[in-house]
Amino acid sequence: MNLSSAFTVDPDAPAIRRHNAQVKAAQEAFDAGRPTRVLFKCSEWVGQHGFYADEIGLDYREYYTNPDLMLQVQLEAARRRREIPVHDMILGAPPRESWSTGVDLWPAVAPGAFNCELMYRRETVIANRSRHLSREECDALVMPSIEDGGFVGTIRCFHEYLVNQYQDKLVYLGKPVDRIQNGMGTSGFFSLALDLRGEEIMSDMYEDEAFAHRFLRKLADWSDALTRRWAAPADRNAPFPLTDHGIDMLSPAMYEKFILPILLEKNRGRTDEPHLFHHCGRGQQLFPIVSRHFKLKTLHALTYPLLDIERIRREVGPDVHLIVLISDGILNLGTAADVRSAVKSLLTDSLKRSGPLTLISGDLLPGTKMDNLHVLYESVKEFGAIGSFSATP
Ligand SMILES: [Zn+2]
Repeated sequence: MNLSSAFTVDPDAPAIRRHNAQVKAAQEAFDAGRPTRVLFKCSEWVGQHGFYADEIGLDYREYYTNPDLMLQVQLEAARRRREIPVHDMILGAPPRESWSTGVDLWPAVAPGAFNCELMYRRETVIANRSRHLSREECDALVMPSIEDGGFVGTIRCFHEYLVNQYQDKLVYLGKPVDRIQNGMGTSGFFSLALDLRGEEIMSDMYEDEAFAHRFLRKLADWSDALTRRWAAPADRNAPFPLTDHGIDMLSPAMYEKFILPILLEKNRGRTDEPHLFHHCGRGQQLFPIVSRHFKLKTLHALTYPLLDIERIRREVGPDVHLIVLISDGILNLGTAADVRSAVKSLLTDSLKRSGPLTLISGDLLPGTKMDNLHVLYESVKEFGAIGSFSATP
């Protein structure tokens, strides 16, 4: 594998030293519970590489079919995000312990296991079509093996290959590649219902309640079994996730009737309660219900301005860490002025003082304008200052 042998930025250069010192000070203040400004973080998720794909003209059809290339892109993207001063991230230095890598066939894992048609595209992530099964077909559906059914087998092959070739054998920029993640999991059982039954599952909730309950339960059981099978041994009894990428289309009543009982039941007897709720996109109506039933600590990827962040703060209370991102529509397609005004309107004094708050970038899909990321970071530093006398007019 042809990997870079050094960072292209010098951590001792004055501009980089200034950036790193400022990031360190802001992070330490946040960790001490006395933030001086809102942080703007970049996730180390293995699927976060679109900005780098743009730089090298990556063909995603190759990325998703060649595990060597998959690992190489993840490592080089992780290096690259340590070279561009657009996040609160230490530049020109590797992560403290090791690189975060893994099989990255999200979001096709669960739909692929059920033989949904997958679409490999040059420019972006894999997509899948819904199978639009009838109710009878859903009831008769044979669940794929969590060992190697359909796409699960492909993912397993990728993982075994990467572990054999590279795990604990490869050192990149001074840090090891260890614990290559297997990438198994789902986007939620309701999302899977949409992949298999299509939007008809929402009519079913009115027309055939018994079917909707039965089918959702069947998919939740399978999702749970898959996740437990492929979790690290210490995480086998971890909380059943609240995250589900299709639920924003449900009314509070339908969510309470069909989704919540499964979440409550699945989380009985676990080592811990679910504290994390990743929720990107719309779905304002769900936060009061979720926060009433679960002791949330972190809300992740709340999308502004699709969601009213101040209202969510009132609903979940002052202790929950709100991790917010600016909508892709603004970041990808908007002008610099659009980005700046979105950050300004989000970071009101009342929100900044209401409890722990962090901004993150989204998945940085191909086409994200790097100039807009620069503007975003500068705007967070400008409007994110916390103190009684902000420098901002
Ligand atoms: Zn999401």
